[in-house]
Amino acid sequence: VPELPEVESLRRSLLPYIDGQTIRSVKVLMAKLVSSKGTKRESSKAKQVEFESNLVGEKIIGIERRAKNLIFRLSSGAVVLVHLKMTGQLVYKQNSENGESEIVFGGHPIQDTQTDLPNKHTYVIFNLDKGTLYYNDVRQFGYLLYYKNQLDLDKDDHFSKLGLEPFSPDFTEKNFVSRMKTKKGVLKKLFLDQKVVVGLGNIYCDEVCFASGVLPTRKVETLTSKELSKLYKEIKRILAFAVDLGGSSIANYLLADGSRGNYAREHKVYNRSGLNCIKCGNPLKSIQLAGRTTVFCDIDQK
Ligand SMILES: [Zn+2]
Repeated sequence: VPELPEVESLRRSLLPYIDGQTIRSVKVLMAKLVSSKGTKRESSKAKQVEFESNLVGEKIIGIERRAKNLIFRLSSGAVVLVHLKMTGQLVYKQNSENGESEIVFGGHPIQDTQTDLPNKHTYVIFNLDKGTLYYNDVRQFGYLLYYKNQLDLDKDDHFSKLGLEPFSPDFTEKNFVSRMKTKKGVLKKLFLDQKVVVGLGNIYCDEVCFASGVLPTRKVETLTSKELSKLYKEIKRILAFAVDLGGSSIANYLLADGSRGNYAREHKVYNRSGLNCIKCGNPLKSIQLAGRTTVFCDIDQK
């Protein structure tokens, strides 16, 4: 599952390649992906046709991100919202000039065979001036929605329940602490529901709790001012560091140098249950919390 740092890395990697390019044609191979969001989606032929025809001739003038949504801005004021969900993947392949094709991709980790494009998991194809953008999705939970303007996007209300953006100027310690003080219950559950701050999925929740010396099972209402301050600083630091390293899975893959997302190497607790804690040397513990494997050190975290 791509988490926020992977989506942000993808945005930053794609932008210099596709910004300013015009969409020449669009092919949708699975109508439900462009029809609506949710698990029981209709396949609307009308939505598919709208998606394919309305985008032709549009120039891409920017890509923004809100939580894990990518927002493609187009020259007419139209918007395409993309959510990769569990297994979505965007792959951009620049037209080859000297036989060496450049590929940028992010989202679900790519398999070597998936550098053959399009492939059996490709469901939307955008032909641009200088290359092709592919949307692949093994399990087809993701979606790409077209809105003719910002007003229509706002009406669909994708973002109203979301918390603070960790890289925005609004994410101040004061704002974070005041939101935390209105909440109760288990810390990790609160972080996972994204209502205080977005971007803390399973991996980053465990990493932030460990770095802050706070157990993920702590009741939010028992956190001290010092602990809240530490959590705030670690959320900022860890998410920014993860984005700088290209996320935990893979965000930017250039065939030329084969570089991949490197944050996975930096995990201190995630996926390290039973291994020695890097601080005290004792084995890390794990439990199931909110349906997720949760790893922590019961000595360093209180
Ligand atoms: Zn420890």
